[in-house]
This record gives sequence, structure tokens and C-alpha cells, in this order.
Amino acid sequence: MVEIVDAKFVTSAPNVGAAPESDLQDEVVFMARSNVGKSSLLNALTNHKGLAKVSSTPGKTRLINYFDVTFLDRDSAQKSMAKFVDLPGFGYAKVSKSIKHDWEKNLTDYVANREQIKIFIHLIDCRHPHLEIDTSVSGFLFDNIRKNQHIIQIFTKIDKLNQKEQNKLKKEFPQALMVSSSKKRGTLKIIKIIHDILQENQENREEMDED
Ligand code: GDP
Repeated sequence: MVEIVDAKFVTSAPNVGAAPESDLQDEVVFMARSNVGKSSLLNALTNHKGLAKVSSTPGKTRLINYFDVTFLDRDSAQKSMAKFVDLPGFGYAKVSKSIKHDWEKNLTDYVANREQIKIFIHLIDCRHPHLEIDTSVSGFLFDNIRKNQHIIQIFTKIDKLNQKEQNKLKKEFPQALMVSSSKKRGTLKIIKIIHDILQENQENREEMDED
């Protein structure tokens, strides 16, 4: 079993240009429309209630937040580190055009310039799986990621769907994961998948260094 045993806030940055130096550390980027449950998921994954704020004003925080996260693989007793990157929520109806533009620029810059990113986690509200904004973010990611990067789609608030609805969603999106932060369902699986991708990436890098 893999757990996150430590998580702490590092810093905030208004854009990728101001992102902290972390050349040696893998990054996992979390992105979602406002109110989809990104903060709740970050808190649930890290077992840290106040890590990311659960917002009462959707779309208010426009900063990129960075967290240092420590994984512990209980089977091997190995610890490993990563940075979780909490991008500002997007697609909130009331944000101005310039904020929307900033967000898009942030994401584009991120994908283009941040070598450290190994995983993009795109969260989607399970009750609204076909919103145009999510489809476009998802298309953008698939078109632009590098070979050593992964995209994970996660449907949030799965406790809001009955079993039949969950099965239907699973059938339509077989690659996607499902989570309920409030019921703590699906969180361990997400941690394990993130951990395993990062480990595999690291092993590939070490092999390349040896060549
Ligand atoms: P963010 O804007 O994406 O960071 O979303 P938040 O984490 O602030 O959550 C938005 C709202 O959805 C809050 O009222 C949360 O309590 C609620 N929420 C988040 N995760 C879940 C979940 O798994 N199940 C249910 N039923 N509600 C959730």
C-alpha cells in the first residue's frame, strides 16, 4: 500500500515564470473547473484537512499553489517525494476575459515549459462529463504533452451517482478514475497510480543516465 505521509504548502506563484526552482523534483499538476472538488481532493489525498482551502467563493484564488508531498510505500518502506501543483480553477462564469486569458496562458506555458511535470490530473464533475470547456482542456493536453508525461482523468463527487450511473460513466470513459473525497472512495488508488507513474519515470531516467 502507498500512502502520502507528509504534505506541506511551499509557495504560491502568479504564473509559471515565478514557479519555484525544483529541477530535481517531479510535479503533478491538478486542474479543474472551479467547484469541481479540487481542494477537497488534495486534502483527501494528503489526509490534511486544511492543506488546500475548500473555497466558498469559486474562482477567487488565481494563484498557482505548490505543495511538497512525501509518499511512503508500506511494502518496501521506501519514501519518495513529489510536488503537487494546484492550478487556479477555470471556467468560472463570472471571471473576466483577462483572467480567463491568464489561465489559458498559464496552462499553455506550463505544458510548453515545465519539464518537471510528469502528470496532469484533470478533474471533471461526474454529473457533467461533457462540458465543452473540459473537452477542450482535455484535447489541448492530449495534443501537447510530451512522451514522458501522463494525463489522468478523474471524475469527482462520485457519491452523487447511483451504481447504474457510475457503470455507464465507466463504460464511456474506461481510462478514467472515479473518486469521492467526502466518502474517501478511490483516493488510495489515485495515490498508488501517481506514485507508480513517478517511480517508473524515475527508473527510466536512471537507465538513460547509465547508457
Ligand atoms: P474546488 O473549487 O475545485 O477546489 O472545489 P472544492 O473542493 O472547494 O469543493 C466544492 C464543493 O464541492 C464544496 O462544497 C465541497 O464540499 C463539495 N465537494 C467536494 N468534493 C466532494 C465529494 O466528493 N462529494 C460531494 N458530495 N461533494 C464534494
